[in-house]
Amino acid sequence: MGEFDLIERFFKRPPLRADVGIGDDCAVWSPRAGHQLAFSADMLVEGRHFLSTVEPARLGHKALAVNLSDLAACGATPQAFLLSLSLPRADESWLSGFSQGLFQLADAHGCELIGGDTTQGPLNIAITVMGELPQGQSILRSGAQAGDDLYVSGHLGDARLALEAFRGAISLPQAVFDAARLRMEMPSPRVALGIALRGIAHAMADISDGLLGDLGHILKASHVGAEIELPSTSALMQTTHHWSCPPDLAQTCVLSGGDDYELVFCAPPLASASVHAAAQASGTRVTRIGRITAEPALVLLDAQGQVVHSRFRSFDHFA
Ligand code: ADP
Ligand code: MG
Repeated sequence: MGEFDLIERFFKRPPLRADVGIGDDCAVWSPRAGHQLAFSADMLVEGRHFLSTVEPARLGHKALAVNLSDLAACGATPQAFLLSLSLPRADESWLSGFSQGLFQLADAHGCELIGGDTTQGPLNIAITVMGELPQGQSILRSGAQAGDDLYVSGHLGDARLALEAFRGAISLPQAVFDAARLRMEMPSPRVALGIALRGIAHAMADISDGLLGDLGHILKASHVGAEIELPSTSALMQTTHHWSCPPDLAQTCVLSGGDDYELVFCAPPLASASVHAAAQASGTRVTRIGRITAEPALVLLDAQGQVVHSRFRSFDHFA
């Protein structure tokens, strides 16, 4: 199977909103009046971002999910994406699984594949995604204000728990491992919540590198600090299946575990009812974890309000 057969068979579908889609030198797109386009790119490299054991369908899902998560973090509505693939070989069963997982998530979000690039080489998946926003409504990292409440979506730490199990650092009951692995391999981008928070959240980011690190980006961009209470651990890390997560590991997972693709955001206390309405409308759990302070530092508090000195950091590829 040649490069063009491969594209034709596994990736080309009739265009939806694109003026020109796959098959020409460029895709062509007409933005709607009164809207802005939001762009983001994320690359997945074997051994770095995923393990060779992952099922191709889950990999297809995750490659797009991490990109949709960036759109969610800005409050953008997904529209279209470009897929650049470097593949060791044209393996039909791999391509079939990968494209199924990819299109299942793409279709769930009405996000259209409009082009890309395909080459032979080490397995590497790069997606560029494009979303739409009503003019002036993007939610940036720089808008946090002292006094804002701080929230996170969903549960944090499950993906890191799975990674620790893969690394052999901890042994999990099968049911806990399967559930954590599903969270690591098939994250749910919080697109509906991101859109529902337009005009409500002052600042937002998605959590790809750990809560402390990604919150740190908001604080830096906004020139503020935060006080956070240690967020409660996920249901998976509470006692289930006759197992409970060692507290130290639970804290590592929740504070600095990457790959959760939840949202961290802040909003003024007066908007608290709107935040909860947005959570409800989007079917996403939202928890208040603290507040933004004028003092530019990140302070962790325990349940008694005492300052916790943390050794945790976020993940930095070049650190
Ligand atoms: P060019 O060489 O002119 O850059 P290619 O021959 O690489 O274009 O690609 C032919 C067409 O197939 C283009 O429209 C390109 O966008 C599309 N395409 C290539 N690879 C992919 C892919 N992995 N997924 C979707 N579209 C792709
Ligand atoms: Mg060309």
